[in-house]
Order: sequence, then structure tokens, then C-alpha cells
Amino acid sequence: MIKANAYGHGAVPVARVLEDKGSDGFGVATLEEGIELRRGKIRSAILVLAGIYPEQLDELLEHHLTPVTGELEVMRKLESLAQRRRANLEFHLKVDTGMGRIGFLPGEIDSWLPEIARLKSLKLKGLLSIFSHADSPEESYTQKQLEIFKRVIEKLRKAGCRLPLVHLANSAAVITLPSSYFTMVRPGLMLYGSYPAPEMASRVSLKPVLSWKTQVLQVKRLPKGSSISYGRSFVTQRESLIATLPLGYADGYHRLLSNRGVVLVRGKRAPIVGRICMDLTMIDVTDIARVEQGDEVVLLGRQGTETISAEEMGRWAETISYEIFTSISSRVSRVYYNSQEE
Ligand SMILES: *Cc1c(COP(=O)(O)O)cnc(C)c1O
Repeated sequence: MIKANAYGHGAVPVARVLEDKGSDGFGVATLEEGIELRRGKIRSAILVLAGIYPEQLDELLEHHLTPVTGELEVMRKLESLAQRRRANLEFHLKVDTGMGRIGFLPGEIDSWLPEIARLKSLKLKGLLSIFSHADSPEESYTQKQLEIFKRVIEKLRKAGCRLPLVHLANSAAVITLPSSYFTMVRPGLMLYGSYPAPEMASRVSLKPVLSWKTQVLQVKRLPKGSSISYGRSFVTQRESLIATLPLGYADGYHRLLSNRGVVLVRGKRAPIVGRICMDLTMIDVTDIARVEQGDEVVLLGRQGTETISAEEMGRWAETISYEIFTSISSRVSRVYYNSQEE
């Protein structure tokens, strides 16, 4: 799964590496994400998972993208448009086994299955669903979804549908539930070295792919009683050394980290003080010796013996590592290293 710019890591470079390592195909959310991969010369199968509109048929065909659909009206329109163009379009069928989002309802299978069995220009290539709670140790709901999914597979097969690909598992299920693997799995978060839930660290060992770094822009000494940043939410309680960093919420550095988050500088944790601005962030380096302009600052990743994980940053910002990664904006330049390099 390399949707959302490969969870912020850069879709085309990530796809190239994964393709090179033998990945069979890729999952993106939107048609536009699929086209971006094709423009980046990615040749593997690309599944467009977060829905499509019938008007997007021509672009799907032109770029050899495989849509996922779970709605009769869209399927009918795609079928008739494809017939008019004398084109074939492979698609995967989505069933909603308990997410309440997109996909056919298994309970209504008698209304949609006959239509699927009759399709001509649309070629059923796969079946999928998604777990809503596989990251929880409480697994009965997950088991229920799995059972519903298996019943759908059986009914489709009985109706004569071939299903070359059957897939259900996200990262959490890849880690905890081998019985949900079927013919393909769809790991996302774990590819980037982050755990869907803390308990999973005992089951697999993952290494974060990404570090997020900046440099100290300016250091200055401020007297006791100085207020920092907009809204004056932080006032120095002593004479303080305050360093300014050249990034802010426009870079995807969540404003909720204001007066909560920390960064690493000179191997130590330095607290963020005052509100994070659009382009600048202040940290208190009073207790860290000799901080100066140009010093490396680690926002995510390791420095010396200290580490800040996306999970930890997520807790400070009241969110999950997924959102931390996908928020890193296009203003932040991505630099890629071979594993041999430092
Ligand atoms: C994003 C996504 C995944 C991957 O989920 P992770 O929790 O990141 O592994 C799998 N399937 C679908 C349909 C998705 O949208």
C-alpha cells in the first residue's frame, strides 16, 4: 500500500524499491495517485482502492489501472461505457464485512451477485474487504468479519465466478492473523517500519524507514518573563536560551505539538515552547550545552542514544503514526539513501 504518497515517504521512489524487491502490485487510494506511479514508470499492477467514478473509465484504461468497486450503479455504468468502447476492464470487488464504508453488503448478495456473474466487459479479477479492528487485541469482531468474507467467497465461487486474487489483511492482520492471508496481503504502515499497535512490537521487529530532520536557524538568550510565539502561551521562568527551527505546521509539524512535543538536539531532548507557527518553531535549549546555528535537529528518528518514533509523536499530537507520516507536506524535501550509505 503506497497510497497518500507512500504514507508521506514518496510514492514513486518507494514503488521503485519495492518493485525491485519483488512486490507483485501496488495499492493507491485514487486514480490520480495511480497515474503518478505510471508517469514514474512503474509497470506493476496498480489497484485503485478508495473508489472511482464512472467518468474515470478512459483514464483507468489508458493507464492500465485496476479499480475497486462495491456499488451496483457504478458497476453498471462502467460496464456499459466499456462495452461502447469495446474495451475490457479488470476490477476487484469490494465487500463491506463490517466497516460501514464502501463495498457491497454481504446481506444483500442476492441482489448484486447475479449482476456480477453476467458482466462481460468488466472482468472480475479479485475480491477484497477490510478489517475495522484488526489492531485491537480483542479479536472476535475480526473473526466475525473473516467468517463473513469466507461465506462471500463461497457464494461467488458457487455462482461460477473465478477469483484469481482474494485479499483482506492490512498490516495488523499480517502481523497477527495468518488465517486472513488468502492469495495476497495489503500491508501499508508496517512497510514503513511503524507498528499498528504497541503490542505488536513483541511479534515482529520493524525498523523505521524515515527520519525527519532540520537545523537550528537561530539561538538567542531571553530574560526571565519573555513570552514566546503567538498567543503568548509560553513565558520563560528563567533566563533562557531559545532556538528557532525553520519549520512549522505548513510542513506538517502538527500545531498540537506546541508546548508538548520535543526534538533532539546534541543528543538531548529539547521541549517545544510556545505555539508552533506556520513556518517556525521554538525550542528551549537552556539545559543543552553549546547549541548553535546549523546544529542538526531530529524531529523523528534517532540522534545519539535518543529516538523519537512516529508513534510517540502521534501521542503528543493526539493522533496516530499514520497521520504523522501522511501530514509531512511537500515543502519538506525527501532525500533517499541506499542501505549501504550512512
Ligand atoms: C490503507 C489500506 C491498507 C493498509 O493498511 P495498514 O494498516 O497501513 O497496513 C489496506 N487495505 C486498504 C483497503 C487500505 O486502504
